[in-house]
Amino acid sequence: MYLKKLELYGFKSFANKIELNFEKGVTAVVGPNGSGKSNISDGIKWVLGEQSVKSLRGSKMEDVIFAGTSTRKPLGMSEVSLTLDNSSQALPIEYDEITITRRMYRSGESEYYLNKSACRLKDIRELLMDTGIGKDGYSIIGQGKIDEILSSKSEDRRQLFEEAAGIVKYKHRKNEAEKKLSATKDNLIRVSDILNELE
Ligand code: ATP
Repeated sequence: MYLKKLELYGFKSFANKIELNFEKGVTAVVGPNGSGKSNISDGIKWVLGEQSVKSLRGSKMEDVIFAGTSTRKPLGMSEVSLTLDNSSQALPIEYDEITITRRMYRSGESEYYLNKSACRLKDIRELLMDTGIGKDGYSIIGQGKIDEILSSKSEDRRQLFEEAAGIVKYKHRKNEAEKKLSATKDNLIRVSDILNELE
């Protein structure tokens, strides 16, 4: 599995739609200061569901939408699509290519798509769990990230190893099942209270 394509439209400095095609192996993005190199990695984080404005180097989420220049009007929405090659079927989905899209309007409304079908962020998170690709995955190592990993608490570092070991998915399912179990227990208590009242 590898990153095959990234399309950006209205995202930060990319007012026009741009398409970046990646080959297998190493790709280096070079350019002058302020030309938008980091905006590309921000686009990857954002489409994978990043919710932290700070991590996207903004002060509010709206800052990801092209804000205009002296010669060009601001845009009303931002859209990023990321295509992964899944011919190895590394992701448990029966497509050889997976395109994840996130769209956001100035009103704050956000939409997610998996291969052009509307979905929830939860669906994308679950699909990418244990792959290292998700927004908290180790496939994106930003500036200062290594220091952060080395100086973080062992409990926080453990999350990284759990993702690599492929057990996050099961821990997540266990948590969901425990929540359901607890809600069912509460319902049972309520039912037995009502029955007692009726007797
Ligand atoms: P450096 O090499 O200095 O780190 P860089 O190539 O990584 O630079 P970026 O930080 O990706 O550059 O891009 C910064 C540019 O993006 C700035 O010119 C900034 O004005 C522009 N930019 C950021 N957000 C927006 C936005 N919402 N609308 C328009 N332009 C934006």
